[in-house]
Amino acid sequence: MATPRSADPWLLRLGAGLARGVIDLLLPPRCLACENPVERQGLLCAECFPRHRFITAPMCARCGLPFAHPGEAGREGLCESCLIHPPVFGRARAVWRYDAASRDILLPLKHADRTELAPALARLMAAAGRELLAGADLLVPVPLHYRRLVARRYNQAALLARGIGRIARVPVVPDLLRRVRATPSLGELGAAERAAVLAGTIAVAPRHRARLAGRRVVLIDDVLTSGATANECARVLLGGGAAAVDVLAAARVPLSRPDAGLTRTRSTPM
Ligand SMILES: [Zn+2]
Ligand SMILES: [Zn+2]
Repeated sequence: MATPRSADPWLLRLGAGLARGVIDLLLPPRCLACENPVERQGLLCAECFPRHRFITAPMCARCGLPFAHPGEAGREGLCESCLIHPPVFGRARAVWRYDAASRDILLPLKHADRTELAPALARLMAAAGRELLAGADLLVPVPLHYRRLVARRYNQAALLARGIGRIARVPVVPDLLRRVRATPSLGELGAAERAAVLAGTIAVAPRHRARLAGRRVVLIDDVLTSGATANECARVLLGGGAAAVDVLAAARVPLSRPDAGLTRTRSTPM
């Protein structure tokens, strides 16, 4: 006799996800950030919209740092940080500045199982990264260490990558990169220390190595903070044969100091 599988958390989760999907279809669409009704799924309401600081031109041509005015751009439209310490990756773009407003959307996606936010975020990211995606061969999410993946059950960057891949019609390889070692929080570390701590923590999965040769990769993450993780991923991808690596994030910390972190890690192939 078959035993009921009501205790299987994965099935319960799947059931809850499906139920939420059905409810979403039946209920009027809600704002991405609050409970206010909106015209279409995935929009911000009139109250929330002004709180969200979208990144638009002018911005650094390389790392996407928003400028207050066009005069802030240095040589070739670059920010001071990119002129002094060019990042390992080619270009980076993001939808929003990372602040209280974008955190209110991104933290629930990361920690509270609000995976239904991913398709709407993917739409916004596909728009912000249009230039990058136009030339892309592959989308690769920033990997989570498997222990974190087990605890959280999903990688938010992989969810976003899948959504963007569908919209931009670019293949996604969710497990192309692997965290081979867990890393401590990088919060308090300087740029050089971050790079040192991250060196050797990320690797190309051997079975995907052949897919990488000569490909233009767009690395997908939820938040671009210091750029150290994106740099380490880019270093590994370029070392693995990728022709170019750009970065697309939902939000980025608007760094203003050149020593704040978007610096080149050691032995870069640039
Ligand atoms: Zn709202
Ligand atoms: Zn820059």
